[in-house]
Amino acid sequence: MAKPSATAAPLAAKWRKLAEGRCAEKGERLTPARLAVYAEMLVGGRPLSAYELIALLEQRQDRKIAPLTVYRHLDFLMRTGLVHRLESAQTYLACDHPDHAHKSQFLLCSSCGHVDEVESSGLETLLAQIADERGFRPDNAVVEVKGLCGSCRTERAD
Ligand SMILES: [Zn+2]
Ligand SMILES: [Zn+2]
Repeated sequence: MAKPSATAAPLAAKWRKLAEGRCAEKGERLTPARLAVYAEMLVGGRPLSAYELIALLEQRQDRKIAPLTVYRHLDFLMRTGLVHRLESAQTYLACDHPDHAHKSQFLLCSSCGHVDEVESSGLETLLAQIADERGFRPDNAVVEVKGLCGSCRTERAD
């Protein structure tokens, strides 16, 4: 008997549970295909463009995958808060703390590509206040700060 081929990246029980929890909250179904995309993003541990993600999935599953399918899965993952989109880089990143709904701010290293997801309620409050003072209703506030991460700064100082 042929052994089942590994069609999905390994996913730690902790992340699977978190994903299941978020989906249950939103009344969404976590299908194996959706889970496979999420697992692939976690394995990478770095922001991926949709095309990088498609290439990784195709390699793992050894078949062609329609980009539209992956975009749909990404939409789902963003809807459930498991994945964030980095607007400036047009890439996707698995959320660092998907156990609760939140707005995120990102520190993007322009040298190594590392992205730090931070959650600052102070900054959120401030942004809401600024918008409110101007009678502005924000739909989507994305804060992405570009610069050098701690380890790249240390390397350059040597
Ligand atoms: Zn997040
Ligand atoms: Zn760096």
